[in-house]
Amino acid sequence: MQRKVIVVGGGLAGLSGAVRLARMGFRVQLFEKNERTGGKMNALALRGEKGEYRFGTGPSLLTMPFVFDELFDFAGVERSSVLDFVPVEPICRYFYPDGTRLNTYADKTRMMHELHAVISPQEARNYEAFLDYTKQIYDLTAEIFLFTPFQELRKLLHLRHIPTLLRLPRIDPMRSVHAAVSAYFRDPRLIQLFDRYPTYNGSNPFEAPATLNIIPWVEYGFGGFYVRGGMYRLAEEITRLAEQLGVEIKAGCAVEKILHDGKRVRGVQVDGEKFDADYVLCNADVVEAHNTLIDGFASRQKRLNSLEPSLSGMVMYWGMKRTFPELQHHNIIFSSDYKREFDQIFTQKVAPDEPTVYISISSKTDAAHAPEGGENWFVLLNMPYLNGQNWQREKDRMKSSVLKRLAAVGIDAESAIDCEHTHTPQDLYDLYRSNKGSIYGISSNTQMAAFMRPANRSRDLRGLYFCGGSSHPGGGVPLVVLSGKMAAELIQEDAQ
Ligand SMILES: Cc1cc2nc3c(=O)[nH]c(=O)nc-3n(C[C@H](O)[C@H](O)[C@H](O)COP(=O)(O)OP(=O)(O)OC[C@H]3O[C@@H](n4cnc5c(N)ncnc54)[C@H](O)[C@@H]3O)c2cc1C
Repeated sequence: MQRKVIVVGGGLAGLSGAVRLARMGFRVQLFEKNERTGGKMNALALRGEKGEYRFGTGPSLLTMPFVFDELFDFAGVERSSVLDFVPVEPICRYFYPDGTRLNTYADKTRMMHELHAVISPQEARNYEAFLDYTKQIYDLTAEIFLFTPFQELRKLLHLRHIPTLLRLPRIDPMRSVHAAVSAYFRDPRLIQLFDRYPTYNGSNPFEAPATLNIIPWVEYGFGGFYVRGGMYRLAEEITRLAEQLGVEIKAGCAVEKILHDGKRVRGVQVDGEKFDADYVLCNADVVEAHNTLIDGFASRQKRLNSLEPSLSGMVMYWGMKRTFPELQHHNIIFSSDYKREFDQIFTQKVAPDEPTVYISISSKTDAAHAPEGGENWFVLLNMPYLNGQNWQREKDRMKSSVLKRLAAVGIDAESAIDCEHTHTPQDLYDLYRSNKGSIYGISSNTQMAAFMRPANRSRDLRGLYFCGGSSHPGGGVPLVVLSGKMAAELIQEDAQ
């Protein structure tokens, strides 16, 4: 008889799990509380005087493209026949308070040339050594941390992993990201640049283990991509794939409870109605699910709530009525005191006085995303997770702070804003129900947290599995797609 899986949540992790499970022969039903699947990877349109501006709400940079190719492959579709991944070079333009402008490239020769010209010949050579070091971390860790359900001891101790396990000290877990970066570079501008990478999984460079220096390799080694037509096209095509394989998608349906008898899951409750299932794959945030969807298991709930959430963010979507040739597709305007900025975000848990500003402008690559002569600005600031802040007030304070930062590097943005919309950390919670509005699940601010995210298979209930940024292997689009893969494979194994 065909076994049934219910997927709770239609983020990229849930969708990727659903595609695989359907292809493996399971009957799959997916409930998504929002009107559209995609979760944090979603779409927004704003109308100004000049016309319509289109935005991606979340991810703006795609990395590890082979992860998506493999998913489409598994479903019997060639990814390039439905989606165009466009390499973005330069990957980013950095603006420093001292007036320096630096472009970064995945192309090593161009990157070395830029560093040679803008920073110094010695720092260009140091970059080469740093890149080798980040590649070594990737080579040593990817197989067991990114592609294996790490908490499954049986799988971890598989013979093929033994050489890697023996070499684990070389993944640099004992010092912080900042300590390692400072050992490679002398120039404070490059230290600031490479210290930013742990924030891509929501963590603090002064606390997170240097193993997270794997992240620059993911960007510089494999390149950064944009999905032609908008990042949301990826969610759209994975949704289509799921539907073609027979997944029944019920959007606008919030799961109220994951039902169980104390030992095994039985299904879910939606709008008071019970839906039976042999297996439940939960793409809702693990901590939030234990707080609201799964009754019982108080000690597990307590432990999960004791883990530090990753950082959150504030996103300002600005339709701009003119173009800015000094900006690239991706831009970062650095703060003048980033130690203080990290301290305010991670320790004091307040909105920083002077935030680092990330601006992504997809209309630079995809002209259709803004009216002619205009641009669509996605302005992202790192923010602390929800901790009693007044976001209505911070929204205005942050907007003037961003305008001030831009003015300081010679960009007058205020007079060009045609229309705008803002998502605060509270909105991120309301939209996606992620624990305290965090973007990347649990932070990696301690050695243990970095390696021991919640497992893909429940320790408490048979038939219950987790995928998504809050579970192994963590946040970021490729990683959550991998988590859906690992969870689906565990279900397949357990069903045999
Ligand atoms: C502003 C921003 C910028 C980002 N930039 C990047 C980037 O450039 N590159 C990158 O790789 N990553 C980026 N990320 C991170 C990336 O978006 C996430 O890691 C990834 O999309 C998370 O996918 P997910 O499936 O784990 O969770 P989600 O996308 O959060 O999906 C979970 C889904 O479950 C649904 N749900 C929750 N509870 C229930 C319930 N009870 N019943 C039914 N449905 C429920 C939610 O509505 C949601 O749709 C960014 C995120 C944000 C917010």
